[in-house]
Amino acid sequence: MVDALTMLALAFVLIHFGFPLLYYLYLRSRWLNRSWDLVRDPSYRPRVTIVVPTYNEANLIRRKLDDIASQDYPRELVEIIVVDSASTDGTPSIVRGWMESHRDFKVILVEEGVRRGKAFSLNNALRFTSGEVVVVTDADSLWISRDTLANALSWFSDSRVGAVTCLKTPVGDGFASVEKGYRDFYNVVRLGESKKHSTPVFHGELAAFRRDLLVRLGGFPTDIGADDSHTATLIALRGYRAIAADNATCIEPVPAKGYHMWRIRRAQHLIQHFTKTLRLLPKAPKEFKPILLAETWLHLANPWLLLLAAAILLYKALTGSPTAIALLIAGIALLLFKPYRTWITTQIYLITASIRNIWTKEIAWRKQEKACQ
Ligand code: GDP
Ligand code: MN
Repeated sequence: MVDALTMLALAFVLIHFGFPLLYYLYLRSRWLNRSWDLVRDPSYRPRVTIVVPTYNEANLIRRKLDDIASQDYPRELVEIIVVDSASTDGTPSIVRGWMESHRDFKVILVEEGVRRGKAFSLNNALRFTSGEVVVVTDADSLWISRDTLANALSWFSDSRVGAVTCLKTPVGDGFASVEKGYRDFYNVVRLGESKKHSTPVFHGELAAFRRDLLVRLGGFPTDIGADDSHTATLIALRGYRAIAADNATCIEPVPAKGYHMWRIRRAQHLIQHFTKTLRLLPKAPKEFKPILLAETWLHLANPWLLLLAAAILLYKALTGSPTAIALLIAGIALLLFKPYRTWITTQIYLITASIRNIWTKEIAWRKQEKACQ
């Protein structure tokens, strides 16, 4: 006989695993392979300002600028802004050196005297931007192919598109394979959401925004961490599309050291973002509302069901319930399976992140060392 408390725990488990699985299957079967309901002109080349925020990126900034320079995009339409927040490793002088040897590029270096976080810097840079589209890209990321920028920006030929991000492929040793299992799943979700309307999760590797929309929004939010995702979501909430492009994939470097802290910090930022959009949910456009609702549930509530279920089962097991003991053992044994293990770890990151958010928002975070590929 299974008692009421154990039944409750089982219901929590069912919802915890069932909801994301159904969401994923729904996006995959209903949306992933649909054609876009957007009119994209592949030859569209808007004027673009590429903003690279840096804090102690001496090891990677040259490679990053080279990667941008190697893009197949009309040079006269590109402007690069590096905005540095008081780096102590000589990042600005490397940028100045690069500018000397690449005089055919328009590059602006903005140097801040103190570090106040990435979003603050982006707003600082925004004042110098002139492109129709502003692309934000992290110093540690690479764009893989020479047409990534052109591919991503071509979506702006449809005036309904307000923001575009890339899909991601993780690179690095060790934890990169863990990260990969997680990415395949999320790329399907990002793309499915984008085809339905918009995705509320953007990527720092390539986040492109219509400049006039950024200005209208008053720039990036400086009180939370996920500046790109939040800005994209605000744009989608205004009825524009904020999409992940299936023709633009970026390399995401995975830190070899400090991986767990990195995942927790990113989870913290996403939680801050979804908490902040909560009050705007009722006003979301019809197609976007279920997406935002689902992602909000997945980030803010769903992980706690698992914790609650585990706590109930543990309590029942300690008070001698054989069913609870069997269920707990099953839950632990399943950790042998990688997808399940990856999922559980993500839930732990999310729960830890919500708790950490109580005392720190990680607006100016500690840098994780990423390998130079
Ligand atoms: P992650 O991708 O979430 O691991 O974040 P990163 O540590 O790679 O940071 C993303 C980008 O923002 C990198 O290019 C950093 O150099 C840059 N960044 C981080 N903090 C600051 C800051 O306080 N000011 C500026 N200007 N850039 C920053
Ligand atoms: Mn990064």
